[in-house]
Amino acid sequence: MNLISDEIVEYLKEGSWIRDLFEKGSQLKQIYSDDKIFDFSLGNPIIEPPTNFKTKLKELVINSPGNVHGYLSNQGLIRAREKIASFLADLYKHHFYQESIVITTGASGALNVALKSILNPNDEVIVLVPYFVEYKYYIRNAQGIPIYCNLDNDFQIDCDEISSKITARTKAIIINTPHNPTGCVFSNKAISELANLLKEREEKYNSNIYMLFDAPYTQLTYDNIKNVNPFKSYHRVIYASSFSKDLGLAGERIGFIALDKDTPGHDLLISAFTFSNRILGFVNAPALMQHVLANTDNLIIQKDAYKKHRDLTMNILEEADFDFKKTQGGFFIFPKSPLEDDLEFCSLAADKFNILIVPGIGFGCPGHFRMSFSVKLETIEAARVPLKALKNYINE
Ligand code: PLP
Repeated sequence: MNLISDEIVEYLKEGSWIRDLFEKGSQLKQIYSDDKIFDFSLGNPIIEPPTNFKTKLKELVINSPGNVHGYLSNQGLIRAREKIASFLADLYKHHFYQESIVITTGASGALNVALKSILNPNDEVIVLVPYFVEYKYYIRNAQGIPIYCNLDNDFQIDCDEISSKITARTKAIIINTPHNPTGCVFSNKAISELANLLKEREEKYNSNIYMLFDAPYTQLTYDNIKNVNPFKSYHRVIYASSFSKDLGLAGERIGFIALDKDTPGHDLLISAFTFSNRILGFVNAPALMQHVLANTDNLIIQKDAYKKHRDLTMNILEEADFDFKKTQGGFFIFPKSPLEDDLEFCSLAADKFNILIVPGIGFGCPGHFRMSFSVKLETIEAARVPLKALKNYINE
């Protein structure tokens, strides 16, 4: 008799290399001091949450005005939903209603709730490659099947490629922009072309295809680039996001799902999300965070700090002659691996130079590696010499 499920046995096998890499990282951290290890492996926010957020949090905890730690409605606190609706309205210059918001346990919670709510067994969900590694597990959690579809060479949406993957069983496509791991932001034109394709296929198959828009990096765009507004082009958008990255609240697990009020089946979808939030065991998103959100006015961050980190990282990678595309948004850069085998390259970087980076194969895209610039500026600067040495070592 197996002790655990066959599915989890398979996942653990699949993910063994990543555990080895993290194991390597922890071993290095036991041997060397922090300033001798260059850990670019995680997308953990390093900029503190806004001051008004912290002030409100402190006030709520110290004064404890009533029941800020108790259960909340499965959909979330109305005043927090109002804040999220007005945050989205500012962002997209379009009215959103608190009735169209469900507060979730991070963007991960939002994605799981959305997929659980819309998928029947063996429904297909298109995932663009390279991808955020968790998507396939979330889709399978809801008994769906991930269908992989490559982005083009510039890591942009390739509608011909997507067109060849849509079938009568396609229930959703996940769009993540700014994109993890490439740092690309998809254009309005690309999203609008995609929307037209989805509408055409909905008609052809008499089906409903959702655009599951995963946008936790939406405020983190650089060089005056703005993230795309999916609601403008498509009628069946499920917007899944969080304040994990832009407000620096990743560990607090606060996110949301939003719909446009005219989304077909709006009320039924919101009921389904609310119910799934409950039965997936989230019950309600963290209560204290919802109360703070409800009482905090400005949810906008200073993204200039992350831009500084991005610029320094690109400068160092350029100096060491790595081949990469400029990051337009988010936390990551996705350069080409100088060795064909990206796993070998990342192991070499860790073993010989104490540099921790993630191989592209983990995102379904071998031949690359992912580097997070959400690390201290000193760490990035200190990696200038070892990164150059690593590149020279390979060239020799
Ligand atoms: N989607 C993408 C593309 C991400 O990179 C992440 C986190 O790294 C998430 C979703 C999950 O975000 P959260 O921490 O809000 O659950």
